[in-house]
Amino acid sequence: MKLLLENWRQFISEEIEPITTLRIFDFDETIAHTRSETRVKAPDGSEATLRDQKEFEEYMNAAAAKEGVEAFDAVDALMELGYQIDLSDFSIVKDPDEITIITDILRNFPENSKTYIMTARRGNSISAIIDYLDEIGIDAGEVRVIATQGDSKGDVMATMMAQKIMKDTGKSNINKIEYYEDSQKNIDDVLLKVCNSEQLMDIKPSDFELIIYKVANIGGEYKLEKIAC
Ligand SMILES: [Mg+2]
Repeated sequence: MKLLLENWRQFISEEIEPITTLRIFDFDETIAHTRSETRVKAPDGSEATLRDQKEFEEYMNAAAAKEGVEAFDAVDALMELGYQIDLSDFSIVKDPDEITIITDILRNFPENSKTYIMTARRGNSISAIIDYLDEIGIDAGEVRVIATQGDSKGDVMATMMAQKIMKDTGKSNINKIEYYEDSQKNIDDVLLKVCNSEQLMDIKPSDFELIIYKVANIGGEYKLEKIAC
């Protein structure tokens, strides 16, 4: 009787949770190129307009070093120090160009997989992204949008794996993560937290794979570079 009950339980949990693959897409410069700018005023009165992610990261890294801030994402700490950082362009999807090499992959939903858009955007960015998916003909009902508000994407992925533990093996049900991203900083973080993490060793299935597709814009043409775990 006990065995039967356990099998039944297992069957039910498989019915509820057949997901073994997570597909995770960054948004900015991965799904769409946008014209979002960040306007900054430093406590010393100097002002800057950061026109893209590269300028954004360079400015924040330099300001963090200058102020002795050591966070994964320095924005919150810098704002507390009096930096005025206007991120309002990121609450909309501003003048977007669809990156079709990615959206062609995004719009096909493989079996046993769950699709996420994981953006580091802050504030009310989720509804704008859902509206944009609608606009380009992607079924937003198939996609879950997560805004990490600047937090580490590697930490979020590690948590997702740890939330799907199979009772019989003690291992995560997730044996594959496909991750589409343009930012090397985020890729390095995910390699560290998911690929090389000692904490995940015990729950990683033996056939686990993390496949990263780095989106590179080479002279206006988008290419994918594959990085495996
Ligand atoms: Mg990006």
